[in-house]
Amino acid sequence: MSVIKISDLRYAFGHGETQQTVLHGITADFTQGEITIIAGPSGSGKTTLLKLVAGLRTIQEGSIEIDGQRIETAKQRELVAVRRNIGFIFQSHHLISSLSVVQNVMMPLTFDSKMTPGKARQRALDILGEVDLSDHVHKRPEQLSGGQKQRVAIARALVHQPAIILADEPTASLDGPTGREIVSHLQRLSKEFGNTIVMVTHDNRILDVADRLVTLVDGKLSDHAPTLGEDF
Ligand code: ADP
Ligand code: MG
Repeated sequence: MSVIKISDLRYAFGHGETQQTVLHGITADFTQGEITIIAGPSGSGKTTLLKLVAGLRTIQEGSIEIDGQRIETAKQRELVAVRRNIGFIFQSHHLISSLSVVQNVMMPLTFDSKMTPGKARQRALDILGEVDLSDHVHKRPEQLSGGQKQRVAIARALVHQPAIILADEPTASLDGPTGREIVSHLQRLSKEFGNTIVMVTHDNRILDVADRLVTLVDGKLSDHAPTLGEDF
């Protein structure tokens, strides 16, 4: 079943002479329960594409449908509902430095009116346990290593149990084994719970978790099976 459907999506930064077209007509379908990895050179528009899917950038041309809901014509409350179903793991972690680890992870749940503070806290503690941070829940982000911070960000992206997970180079700041744990966790979510995952990565060591590998080059997306070791 297609969960994300992208049709002839185009996107440009700037205006007039300085306008730079980044996406030149992307058409793609992402299937429920699959991990798709998007590879491609730096600057090819991978982050821009993920942000458009997440509703963090406004669609200029073309269309995106998520669970049958057209994004570009959606009303505000429809967009809010779609976003609630998406977890976004950013390239850099964007943690709030004045909050503790567990408070950071609880953030997405504060928008859920059915969630009591006690329940939210328990849910945050559970997911922090899954990413092996139970001993660090009361620390501030600055007291953690880069890898630990990224794991907090991942816990925060997953705490509201989104059906769709968009991950922008989630292992970029991690060492090999830690990166592997993170993607194994994502793989388990897709296989056990049917989460749909679209992940951008430069990291050749994790390409094997992909059910499908696509590349973004010259503003176009194509199915591609790079040989291991090929450099993006
Ligand atoms: P990638 O994630 O593949 O490295 P990006 O989507 O970040 O690529 O960027 C694609 C292109 O768009 C790059 O040339 C980049 O310089 C440009 N770009 C990205 N964000 C902005 C922005 N906010 N304003 C202007 N240009 C941008
Ligand atoms: Mg990027």
